[in-house]
Amino acid sequence: MTKRDYYEVLGVNRNASAEELKSAFRSLARKYHPDMNKEPDAEEKFKEINEAYQVLSDSGKRATYDRFGHAAFDSRAQAGYGGGGFGQDFDPFGDFGSFGDIFDMFFGSSTGSRRRESASHQTKGASVNIDITLEFEEAAFGVEKEIEYSRVEICKECQGVGGKKKVACPHCRGTGEIKHTQTSIFGSIVTSRICNFCSGKGYVAEDTCQKCHGSGKVKTARKLKLKFPAGVDSGYRLRVSGEGEAGENDGPAGDLYVSITVKPHKILERKGKNLFFDAEVTYTQLVLGDEIEVPTIQGMEKIKISPGTDPHAVLKLRGKGLVDPSNGSRGDQFVQLKLRIPRRLTGEYKKLMEQLAELEGQEKNKKTGGIFERIKEAFTSAEG
Ligand SMILES: [Zn+2]
Ligand SMILES: [Zn+2]
Repeated sequence: MTKRDYYEVLGVNRNASAEELKSAFRSLARKYHPDMNKEPDAEEKFKEINEAYQVLSDSGKRATYDRFGHAAFDSRAQAGYGGGGFGQDFDPFGDFGSFGDIFDMFFGSSTGSRRRESASHQTKGASVNIDITLEFEEAAFGVEKEIEYSRVEICKECQGVGGKKKVACPHCRGTGEIKHTQTSIFGSIVTSRICNFCSGKGYVAEDTCQKCHGSGKVKTARKLKLKFPAGVDSGYRLRVSGEGEAGENDGPAGDLYVSITVKPHKILERKGKNLFFDAEVTYTQLVLGDEIEVPTIQGMEKIKISPGTDPHAVLKLRGKGLVDPSNGSRGDQFVQLKLRIPRRLTGEYKKLMEQLAELEGQEKNKKTGGIFERIKEAFTSAEG
């Protein structure tokens, strides 16, 4: 097949201005763009148009072409355009820039949805993990807190493009994937893979963004108000969806995970939703019964000790524990009694205790005496 004249391809005369060339290229590229035109030879035509414009839009190359015709570009034509993509010598940031105009026409900022449709190239952003320490009371009653962390966000300066201008990727011609057609006796098999050159974006950036240095993303400090529900405990992790790092190719952002540590209470011990407190009591309080005050998370609470309570008894303050955030049920507070033995007895106290001991001795003898008497009698009778 002989190559058509580049001017003929673009339908302009040999004296056409750069503006005329551009306008001819635009309308033809739009007409034959493989995404828009489903005619079988559209892709071939599209390649031809691009090739022609690539040469004629560059004044140096145009001059060479005018003098030597296709011969001047033979190697390029064979190696690149007509074959399986662009040759190695192709400079995607160079004279092909005007392709970006086409790109913008078809997929420009408002029609960016086209890219979103190609879900296969999208990747969810990475998750971000942060730690937070809550005061006991904050965890017990729930709290709203502003947290600050850093995450990778889409660069606002370039809207994630990486440069001032989007230029259709020359390797995949804006599709984000490389199609490979194999013809066999069974028919043709089309396989496609994500374009490595543009990572499936379908475009490359021109005029690199100074803020993100072309990556389209920047590490940004993020402030967020979070609600920690009542009852959270150490080891709990809060997931905030979409507050992680930015996704790839318009993919959704990752999630933020907030690992919680809760400081212990000054007095109360926590196990899950239940609270525990050791209350020291005296012998007489256990024997005679009493009412004592114990601390709870809602303030001081009175609790009754019945006469004759066991020194190791555990009393329960129902519903005075914490809320279980998973089901809303409320825990209890358990009061473990601890008998306090006075170390040093003085004066009256000692006298009373001795009297008490004497009394207890008599009581003991009354109860056990009978048995000893009978044993004694048994021995005596055996001896006698
Ligand atoms: Zn590409
Ligand atoms: Zn940027």
